Amino acid sequence: MSEIVEREASGLYPESYGAWAGNPAGVKPNLKLCCDSVWDKTSWKSYQCSRPRGHGPGLAYCKQHDPAAKAARQAANTRRYNQKHNQERYQWYGRQFFDALQQIADGHNDARGLAQQVITKFKEGERK
Ligand SMILES: [Zn+2]
Repeated sequence: MSEIVEREASGLYPESYGAWAGNPAGVKPNLKLCCDSVWDKTSWKSYQCSRPRGHGPGLAYCKQHDPAAKAARQAANTRRYNQKHNQERYQWYGRQFFDALQQIADGHNDARGLAQQVITKFKEGERK
């Protein structure tokens, strides 16, 4: 890693990592490593990521913490969550679909209108 790249990206590094009451100064950033901080659940402290840098803005991130990679992971999670949610809605709406079908079978005088009304209401709650 050249000195130039280290200086270019230095704006992405905080003054320190993991500052807390017991260590108010925290730990100085290591400019050869990823600039992101990671949270340790067991100690309840955050640390500088220990992976080598080389990705993303200023090449200051590791492959995993590259903001574009993080955004892509987040988008994929949202997509998966929305698909699951939309799939579950068929079960939640089962009774309303059945009731509409029953009304049509019983001779509802605007079967298409009733069907469209139920479908429209169902689609309003779909996640994209
Ligand atoms: Zn990292």
